Amino acid sequence: MALRASKRRPLVAQSEIRSMSIECARVGGINLAQGVCDLPVPQPVVRGAAEAMERGQNIYTRFDGRAELRRAIAARQQRDTGLEADPEIQVVVSAGATGAFYSACLALLDEGDEVVVFEPYYGYHIVTLAALGIKPVFVTLAPPSWEFCAADLERVVTERTRAIILNTPANPSGKVFSREELALVADFAQAHDLFVFTDEIYENFVFDGREHIAPATLPGMARRTVTISGLSKVFAITGWRIGYAVCDPEWALAIGHFSDLVYVCAPAPLQLGAARGLDELGPDYYRGVAEDHEQKRDLFCATLGEIGLVPHVPQGAYYTLADISRLPGDTAKARAMHLLERTGVACVPGTAFFRGDAGQTLGRFCFAKEMPILEDAMGRLRKLES
Ligand code: PLP
Repeated sequence: MALRASKRRPLVAQSEIRSMSIECARVGGINLAQGVCDLPVPQPVVRGAAEAMERGQNIYTRFDGRAELRRAIAARQQRDTGLEADPEIQVVVSAGATGAFYSACLALLDEGDEVVVFEPYYGYHIVTLAALGIKPVFVTLAPPSWEFCAADLERVVTERTRAIILNTPANPSGKVFSREELALVADFAQAHDLFVFTDEIYENFVFDGREHIAPATLPGMARRTVTISGLSKVFAITGWRIGYAVCDPEWALAIGHFSDLVYVCAPAPLQLGAARGLDELGPDYYRGVAEDHEQKRDLFCATLGEIGLVPHVPQGAYYTLADISRLPGDTAKARAMHLLERTGVACVPGTAFFRGDAGQTLGRFCFAKEMPILEDAMGRLRKLES
């Protein structure tokens, strides 16, 4: 028998986000494809990690993370949502929200299960499910306000449905689910006895006076909700790999054991840096970052509008999906490549977030860049006018 890769190998290809980032580096362009914020890491976070390294706190942590971080995460949740969690048995620190989500899928779902996913979706969610032999079933959100109704959910449910994924604020649409929408999801999850896996990595970035509502706070949702989030985005530490799941102790233990199996632990001193940040940074910090993103959203979306790449103005997170149909090319990839070659600005082809052809006219831009870089990007995009 010849050596070969696994049968699941073809399911996991390089993401469009990574491939556009490579193309961008090739032309020395500005990378608005990747979802990284290049704001400085807050000082308490840096100091906390550096001091932990110097103190020699560099060894494996408990399978579910350092006590300091688990306590800080539980305190964050209590402060922001009012939900209490016991940091000893309900909080699992993992390798980013990505590690927490993968571990949750491994721990709580089986091959052949079906999971409801809103479209447009975050590609990693879909690929994770695919790699595990779990079938995503899609509820398509209708632009411009990305709405859905109870019937849309009922239409896709079968006896194999075990969970629903809720990404709020959402990547790439920027949708912030309202309380009424979350109530629809809660009723649906209870009626069909489903897990709700949330992805709240952008929880601090909500605009125009909106409120982020944690799905676990809705009545009857506490036991079935696995709340997934992390510090990658709000502390601008995407490379540190610090995320977590908070949930019922039974699920937390299972998720923790799978996270241990795959990752052993998140980097020990970096966990302590994240804990220090959570302990020491106050509401002003979080408000400041959100306002900064909101201001950049307004500037960047206005520029896109001026040059005829009409944007969907996001309610939260730090992306905009823009209509790139006026650019030459038959596909979103061809249009995104044209934009990159012509202006030196990279975006992600919309097809990374939709099935079929729905994304062919769209590109996703990340606007969480330092102002001089964003201004440079906007100046380059204006070249399209000439
Ligand atoms: N979830 C969503 C919706 C994202 O957009 C991203 C990054 O872009 C992540 C998770 C990754 O989070 P982490 O760095 O904590 O793994």
